[in-house]
Amino acid sequence: MGEDCIFCKIATGRIPSTSVYSDEEFYAFHDIHPLAPTHVLLVPRKHIAKLTDAKPEDGALLGRLLLKANEIAAQEGLAENGFRLAINCGPWGGQVVLHLHVHILGGRPLADSLG
Ligand code: 5GP
Ligand code: ZN
Repeated sequence: MGEDCIFCKIATGRIPSTSVYSDEEFYAFHDIHPLAPTHVLLVPRKHIAKLTDAKPEDGALLGRLLLKANEIAAQEGLAENGFRLAINCGPWGGQVVLHLHVHILGGRPLADSLG
């Protein structure tokens, strides 16, 4: 666990959040500054600071992460109209919180540009 990592603290309940999903491997919660009607953050409980820190042995976890994002999108009612997943990596990728997370965005048509 990252000692001062806010997403480790959120996933373990030491910082409050609005949970939408929880199991032994993943935690998902509403983004505090939503960019869309639905904006959920999905994190692995394992502290991986950024996508480029993932190791070959994290491959199965990364696969389950995408499948879990799929499941949560469906749970949030986004499956029919579609949604967007985003993983920001590093400063130029716009990553602010250094704990790997997937943004799940939906609930309105999203611009066709990624930035
Ligand atoms: P990044 O830019 O690192 O990909 O995204 C970090 C996201 O975390 C941002 O969308 C930001 O609004 C969200 N965030 C930052 N701090 C908190 C917090 O304490 N609680 C919640 N729920 N979201 C947070
Ligand atoms: Zn962390």
